[in-house]
Amino acid sequence: MTALRAVSRRPRIVAGNWKMNRTATEGGALARELAALSAADPAMPAAPVVVLCPSFPLLEAVGRALAGSGMRLGAQNLHAETHGAFTGEVSGAMLAAAGCAWVIVGHSERRQLMGETDAQVAAKLRAAQRDGLVPIVCVGETLAEYQANRTEEVLVRQVTTVWHGLSLEGARGTVVAYEPVWAIGTGKVATPEQARDAHRVIRATLDRVVGGEAGGALVILYGGSVNAGNAASLFAESDVDGALVGGASLEAASFWKIVAAAAAAG
Ligand code: PEP
Repeated sequence: MTALRAVSRRPRIVAGNWKMNRTATEGGALARELAALSAADPAMPAAPVVVLCPSFPLLEAVGRALAGSGMRLGAQNLHAETHGAFTGEVSGAMLAAAGCAWVIVGHSERRQLMGETDAQVAAKLRAAQRDGLVPIVCVGETLAEYQANRTEEVLVRQVTTVWHGLSLEGARGTVVAYEPVWAIGTGKVATPEQARDAHRVIRATLDRVVGGEAGGALVILYGGSVNAGNAASLFAESDVDGALVGGASLEAASFWKIVAAAAAAG
């Protein structure tokens, strides 16, 4: 007889990508507001995992404000090399020393504006893991690709290139963020069904590329114009494990409503 076993859900994660916004003083104040909301919330710190990703010069102030809150500190980018003549770049070890445990990798703004390739994103994922950081790896189709019905093809290419060669254990240490580029900062959110379908493509591709049922094991966040009004319907899809939030993460009350929606989704 098959033994019944309690199946636990993948962790829920809500990450805030502050992009190039706020000074250290302003970021510290925002983080303190969030820490106060967290302390007053009976659902915290158990669920969900909350990660704040400010710009590099804010890391120290935000890290100080988050101390003891249960919220985690992340960065928005890293360089794949450990050190050297890479003016303006930051290594994973530097981020870890600054208190980060997480880092966003391959955000579409970096892919589009800085020309980051899938191969570079793959190298950054590995560099993050080498330096003890959890990479939140962004994938997603552009508007032109979406309009040309190429979403699946693009996701398969990105996931295959970036996760190829990782062990199941290595892959488990990564988080995926599905961010359709046409939804980022535009106010045009994907429908829950569109997010679900894309997440299923990513899971199926991870199963093929990594094996060992990686697709079911990895946390996949949705990102793109998530706000307090639409978060609950996205989290109602069982394949959507949380959110990567840009604009709505810059205001404590709106961000916390998204965190609360993730907590309520169970
Ligand atoms: C992002 O920057 O990752 C993002 C999803 O932005 P926004 O929520 O503003 O669309």
